[in-house]
Amino acid sequence: MKKRVLTGCLAAFLAAAAFAGKPGSGVRRQLAYAGLPTITYVSDSDGQVTEVTMAGKPIISYDWTAAPYAVPMRFFNRWTVVTSVLPDGSASQQVMDSHGAQRASSTILAHGRQLAHPAVVLDAYATDLGLSPGWQAGLETVSANEVRLPAHGKSISLRYHAIGDGVRVAEADGTPVLWDIDLPLGASGRLAQLVPSRLIVTSTGAVQLAADIPFIDGIESIWTNDASGSHASFGILRADATVRSTSVGPHAEMMVVCGYTEFDSCWDYAGGSVCNADVYLTYCDSGGGTTTPPGGGTGGTTPPPPKTPQQQQRDLYANQPCSPVPDASQFLDSTGYGSSGLQNYFSFADFQSPSASYVLVDSALVSGLGAMARTVTIPGLSDPGNGAGYRIPGANSATPCGDHTYGTAVDLSVRNSSGTHDCNIWNALAVAGNAAGGWVEPASSIAPNGGVPNHFHIAFDGRTNTNYGDACTN
Ligand SMILES: [Zn+2]
Repeated sequence: MKKRVLTGCLAAFLAAAAFAGKPGSGVRRQLAYAGLPTITYVSDSDGQVTEVTMAGKPIISYDWTAAPYAVPMRFFNRWTVVTSVLPDGSASQQVMDSHGAQRASSTILAHGRQLAHPAVVLDAYATDLGLSPGWQAGLETVSANEVRLPAHGKSISLRYHAIGDGVRVAEADGTPVLWDIDLPLGASGRLAQLVPSRLIVTSTGAVQLAADIPFIDGIESIWTNDASGSHASFGILRADATVRSTSVGPHAEMMVVCGYTEFDSCWDYAGGSVCNADVYLTYCDSGGGTTTPPGGGTGGTTPPPPKTPQQQQRDLYANQPCSPVPDASQFLDSTGYGSSGLQNYFSFADFQSPSASYVLVDSALVSGLGAMARTVTIPGLSDPGNGAGYRIPGANSATPCGDHTYGTAVDLSVRNSSGTHDCNIWNALAVAGNAAGGWVEPASSIAPNGGVPNHFHIAFDGRTNTNYGDACTN
């Protein structure tokens, strides 16, 4: 068997901690399984989980010290889900970004409707597979330990094995694809139900944290397949009454509309965060779980299909607003980038924004750099992977829809072999860029108070300079 479980001696540790009674002494548990990232979690001396790491990297932490009734959960050290429970059993939850801005909130009534513990939680896995949204429609529960999921014209059979208390591994055709772990939070009551504690980690490192028991109007789940966690999605089950103002009428078929799921997809970057919210109908089946039926027409209104990551990235342009709004098909992943031509100059990781999984590359940039390369050596990017290539709209508040957001511009390094910014390099690039028909951002704009610009900006977007200003002088 492939199973390789290193659990340590949990009971003995717990007993030792209890007898020792030392504040701060806790329990560390490691879960390992061939083909999946190693998961480690730490509980404090009160038995409450405080931190979870994946392959040694912190992904989740809980802060139990603020107040016993308000528990912040940090996700990838960027997103915070705060769950507060009042004495009457009602609760509220908020999602905050890394700048402290609230991105979603919910209020759960004291007798709020709760749903069954879902058999499977697969949003992170579906994201890994690149499934088009709406994938839930084809999910088929074969048994308590097996589901079938249509994917790319095939049917993937996921079989779950319990490998410890509250710890399951799912395999597809004998290959482990995900962990499904009920973290032993060490909380009780409503707090234990609402504070997200069901951890799903896929073989590629996508991470999802879901509520143990989904509540109407509660934050159901948060997930990311972005290693930095800068792009995260979360879902909130909304009751019919709370969103009655939407244009969807009552459902007349056998299935019962439970309400709606609000999907928020957010990007966090150095200057703030941007989110898209979409609302979809959810239906309760007789078992109390939720499904999203195909089409889902109700009362003459068809809810929009959930969006692909490329469509969500496109929406950032519409929401800013930026014009034109690119087509979703124009967004390139690393594979598409690898045949764009731009890979001959910069790696995908260097060109990519820290806040998005896809980039835009305009062919004019590739041919323009090619023309420059006949007379100068094209240096690397000035700030690789951090906005010197592609940027999402709004990443630079001064130019929210600037040339970087359309893949027509780059910021090139002007460092010489000693590592200092060098006007000789800047001037040579400016001459070559101008001759190639590009627009050169004047040195005096980049370094308005004089001195040497810290990069060279060239755009191939139809603009040209008749005079790109004062040449750079050391
Ligand atoms: Zn620039």
